[in-house]
Amino acid sequence: MNQDSPARILVVEDDEGIGAGLVRALDGAGHDPIWVRTSAEATAADVDEVDLVLLDLGLPDGDGLDLCRQLHDEEPDLPILILTARSTETDIVVGLDAGADDYLIKPFRLAELLARIRALLRRQPAESPDVVEVGDVRVDNAARRVHVDGTELNLRQKEFDLLSLLIRHAGTVVTRDDAMEQVWDEHWFGSTKTLDVTLASLRQHLGEPRSDQSRITTLRGVGFRFEIPDSRR
Ligand code: CA
Repeated sequence: MNQDSPARILVVEDDEGIGAGLVRALDGAGHDPIWVRTSAEATAADVDEVDLVLLDLGLPDGDGLDLCRQLHDEEPDLPILILTARSTETDIVVGLDAGADDYLIKPFRLAELLARIRALLRRQPAESPDVVEVGDVRVDNAARRVHVDGTELNLRQKEFDLLSLLIRHAGTVVTRDDAMEQVWDEHWFGSTKTLDVTLASLRQHLGEPRSDQSRITTLRGVGFRFEIPDSRR
């Protein structure tokens, strides 16, 4: 999908005020919102026709987390952004583990929501694009080469794989589980120290960007986000 074409966005929200506001905002941003108010309506919706889901967790007929798991099972590539008042770290971890791609806590800023939607939609067609460029970092997946500000880095295999994963999802969270599964190719139930060591070494290779924003943000206990320059909240 072209990122400039209207996205069909399934809005699952039982609050009339918030739902109407979201529909108005999405319309205004050129998207094509479909608003449902219950889990049952969301399940009945044609999700393979949808580009992204905005999901409230407190629904009248069930927990949005169950719906999240179900949607993620049916359509693993469908981006899901949870919008909820639940704000603890555990809530966020549980939401991301249920298959959500991003998480925004109510009350949220509309501009931020729209920016995150853009980020999620951008990564959609990009399953494994040959070249990904974010800020001064350029990753060529086909050639397995990385340049920062024009200078080539000499990365180890896992460092490259981790960077490639993070930068492909720039602006959104990659959970520790996802990183372990996709870079080390396994579900990891034990220590993930190897992940932290690889990340630390990757950070060192990348160096500090020109701005004061760090390249990779660690969300403690949750995962990591490769930052898009100037998208800072
Ligand atoms: Ca609700």
